[in-house]
Amino acid sequence: MKVVHEVEKCIGCGTCVALCPALFEMEGAKAKLKDGKMEGSNCVLEREFTPEEQNCAKQAEQNCPVSCIHIE
Ligand code: SF4
Repeated sequence: MKVVHEVEKCIGCGTCVALCPALFEMEGAKAKLKDGKMEGSNCVLEREFTPEEQNCAKQAEQNCPVSCIHIE
């Protein structure tokens, strides 16, 4: 599974960190995918995820107010 964070669109509201602290943390005024790698302007984390991580990543994707988290 792959989680993509469009960093430039992120408004730093903290929702993803609150819902899914296993995968997201705040870094300055924006969220950051823990261990994510920059690919162009996106931060990408691709690996096996636990069921709990998959669930919280989906919650973050669905609740991000600017829809800048994508699960592929
Ligand atoms: S929920 Fe979306 S806008 Fe808010 S901090 Fe997370 S990625 Fe950024």
